[in-house]
Amino acid sequence: MSSITETALDERAAKLRDALGSRVILAGDADYDAVRSLWNVAVDQRPFAVVVPASAEEVVAVVRAATAAGLRIAAQSTGHAAPGLSETDLSDVVLVRLSALRGVTVHPEARAAIVLGGSQWNDVIAAAAPHGLTALHGSAGDVSVAGYSLNGGVSFYARTHGLGVNAVRAVQIVTADGSLIRASARENADLFWAVRGGSGSFGIVVSLEIELLPYADVFAGMLLWGAAHTPAVTRAWAEWTASVPESVTSTLRVMHLPPLPELPPFLSGRSVVVIDGAVLESDARADELLRPLRDLAPEIDTFARIPSAALVQVHMDPPQPTPAVTRHRVLDALPEGAVAAFVEASADPGLFVAEIRHIGGAAARPLPDGGAVSAVDGDYIVHSIAVPPVPEAVPAASASATALVDAFEPWAGEALALTFLDGGMDRSPGFGASLDRLRALKAHWDPRNVFAAANSV
Ligand SMILES: Cc1cc2nc3c(=O)[nH]c(=O)nc-3n(C[C@H](O)[C@H](O)[C@H](O)COP(=O)(O)OP(=O)(O)OC[C@H]3O[C@@H](n4cnc5c(N)ncnc54)[C@H](O)[C@@H]3O)c2cc1C
Repeated sequence: MSSITETALDERAAKLRDALGSRVILAGDADYDAVRSLWNVAVDQRPFAVVVPASAEEVVAVVRAATAAGLRIAAQSTGHAAPGLSETDLSDVVLVRLSALRGVTVHPEARAAIVLGGSQWNDVIAAAAPHGLTALHGSAGDVSVAGYSLNGGVSFYARTHGLGVNAVRAVQIVTADGSLIRASARENADLFWAVRGGSGSFGIVVSLEIELLPYADVFAGMLLWGAAHTPAVTRAWAEWTASVPESVTSTLRVMHLPPLPELPPFLSGRSVVVIDGAVLESDARADELLRPLRDLAPEIDTFARIPSAALVQVHMDPPQPTPAVTRHRVLDALPEGAVAAFVEASADPGLFVAEIRHIGGAAARPLPDGGAVSAVDGDYIVHSIAVPPVPEAVPAASASATALVDAFEPWAGEALALTFLDGGMDRSPGFGASLDRLRALKAHWDPRNVFAAANSV
């Protein structure tokens, strides 16, 4: 005889099936493993059920059916931030995968785009480029616009144009009571404030209206040296970033690459130090600004004027699902001690990437009309990525990723960048002073705490 709990779960499953038919996929169904798989393959998520809606109306139906059955709900577009969501018990959660809700309409005259809730940056970049436009996308084209923008979003345009979240003009969102509503500066303004940082804690965003950037091309690229040059290159980059104008956004990384045939020979099996980024200046001024770094004689120098649509390839993020464990800290400055700490800790071959992103500028200035999160309070993000090839390697990968960021403890500030949060961290500092108001608005818009999110408020 089944237990009371099992009976209750069976009743919920039956209610979902009654309401949604074969659109709901339960554990044990043939498609369950396929629909619960995600970008970060180190995470083995096992939700109560999965639904892959293809329209806003279907999202409404799912939210109504799940809440009527007494289940919780989580939006997930690609699973790039799956470690955060995996801290929630998913045994009573209906996962709403937005991978079928993709599409972009560009309005060039308004320099804006309407983006469906599961769209990825590659979709927007491709749609905007024919109009000589681009977007505040991050380094990976297969990250979703909603998951990135509504958690902040740090791009190679960040020091000039601020965080991606500030480009969001309106959202269409399905709230906990199953209503499909618009939130903007004029409609449901408190929800619009909350979702810009509170993201999936407030509902399922079925479309976003975002502002585009007027760049058909951009001066961008990367400089690469063997890892033996890490001390000199990191020191020079730290000095350089302290003086460059806000038109320059760059990243320094030490990468330990496995010998893989799919990697180009200049990367396969090597440890390298790479500086990449964008310089929003004329070619002549960009060349002048880059001179101190080029004087260090990089082995490879690809900085040049490129179509803005190619910027998303500059950082060489993995193009396919990857097992990843990441950690980060936000720093106010990069003094000599921090540089020395990076040089030492980045040599750990257990890391795939040890990186410092230069932020500050517009990315650090909160906007008076911005949402709950409109800036990251700091000048640098230190970020580690380890790639455990098998599940048994996750503890060692976590140890390497944590050791890198722990080396910066003496210089780390309180702030965190929401898009860089992985598992195992207190997320509160990512919301800064907005946390109390966010929690009050969560109690108003989602009083039964229906929505679970990677960065729960
Ligand atoms: C290789 C790689 C490169 C990255 N590069 C950058 C970068 O350059 N800059 C940067 O800032 N970040 C970067 N990130 C981090 C990335 O932006 C975050 O992990 C982001 O949250 C991923 O969004 P997603 O929707 O693709 O992931 P998901 O895991 O699917 O979603 C993350 C969270 O976003 C919310 N969400 C997603 N879609 C919706 C929706 N439609 N409605 C409501 N809530 C939704 C949910 O709360 C969900 O838990 C990178 C991550 C990786 C792995």
